[in-house]
Amino acid sequence: MHKLWYEVPPTAGLPLRWRDLMPGDANLSAAIAQYLALPETQIECSGTAALVVALTALRQESARYKVILPAYTCPLVALAVAHCGLQPILCDLRADSFDLDHEQLSRLCDDTTLAVIPTHLGGRIADLAPVLAIAHRVGARVIEDAAQALGAYAQGQAVGSIGDIGFWSLAVGKGLTLYEGGVLFARDAALRQRLRQVSAQLVQHDALWELRRSLELLGYGALYHPLGLYLAYGRPLRRALRRDDPVAAVGDDFDAAIPLHRVGRWRQAVGVHALARLPAFQQSLRVLAAQRKPVLAQVPGIQVLDDAPGTQGAWPFFMLLLPTARARDAALEELWTAGLGVSRLFIHALPDYAYLAHLFHASAVPNARDFASRMLTLSNSPWLNEAQFARVVSVLGDAANRG
Ligand SMILES: *Cc1c(COP(=O)(O)O)cnc(C)c1O
Repeated sequence: MHKLWYEVPPTAGLPLRWRDLMPGDANLSAAIAQYLALPETQIECSGTAALVVALTALRQESARYKVILPAYTCPLVALAVAHCGLQPILCDLRADSFDLDHEQLSRLCDDTTLAVIPTHLGGRIADLAPVLAIAHRVGARVIEDAAQALGAYAQGQAVGSIGDIGFWSLAVGKGLTLYEGGVLFARDAALRQRLRQVSAQLVQHDALWELRRSLELLGYGALYHPLGLYLAYGRPLRRALRRDDPVAAVGDDFDAAIPLHRVGRWRQAVGVHALARLPAFQQSLRVLAAQRKPVLAQVPGIQVLDDAPGTQGAWPFFMLLLPTARARDAALEELWTAGLGVSRLFIHALPDYAYLAHLFHASAVPNARDFASRMLTLSNSPWLNEAQFARVVSVLGDAANRG
């Protein structure tokens, strides 16, 4: 039993301050464009909604119907593709990585491929150059899924702005949050214009959804601290794990109905206020990650997913690979409900979610399954203190050692 009433969040989100809730400048798209050094951005009600707008725009100008995605990613990506009447095609990962297997990607891409969606998972940076080359060779677009990578850069350029289209999530748990929100960008100005038109046609104001999200954002503001997280996040987590439902425990049990509505002025103003503190917050996370990464990497058998030279990731949490699925599960047995910020990301490779299985042809995705079975996440929240971090390192060492 967890006694301390103290819960470290699984990802280091930016806490709100009361002053953030005051009305103010509501032009979040301009503020984020400035933050990312982009000419403009477009705000949607979720990362998924941003992807729906992007795919709808691409679909309107092409007869192509296949969208290639990593076999280990957020289930919402597959749901968005299906929502748009397009066919999701799974590409396996490279071994021990969240990157697409570039050889398999080459084989999958042809003149029916509308888009390829590489993913910058957990603030780490996908290897884009080969994906761009393979996709563009067959005339497909690259949509960067930077949902978990706001504030990550490759060669000085914000990830999400390197492919043809990119999107970021402003959902709870992904850094800067409006409780739910998304940011959309396209490199080409004419395509950006199309994305705005599609959004204007597709997305309406909806007072009820906006009221609900506003209350949820207030709840986040009130409860995003270790005690509030114990109540609002830790207790439901433990309940779901007691009934042996890990998909519910991490919130992977998504609905196929994707809400599409405009983001109201108040939530945008909250985002603008909070965004002013984001660069300093992210810098503090990079400093903390730089201290803790070598300690984790020294644990025999543990692999820490890291950034390639020339890239600077965002560090909401660490993704750690254990030597075997058994070792990973042994570590989780002790740590998942310990309030120490240890969790899993997506539970399964996409074909292994019961509610998604109908979307895919039987696919052999051994590396994605292996990644799902050996990976766990450790929060990079500053609320994980040194003693708690040491405890996690020690449990990981024991689990990896037993194999
Ligand atoms: C969360 C997430 C999405 C969807 O973003 P929402 O804002 O939650 O709709 C897409 N891709 C990845 C990798 C994600 O983590």
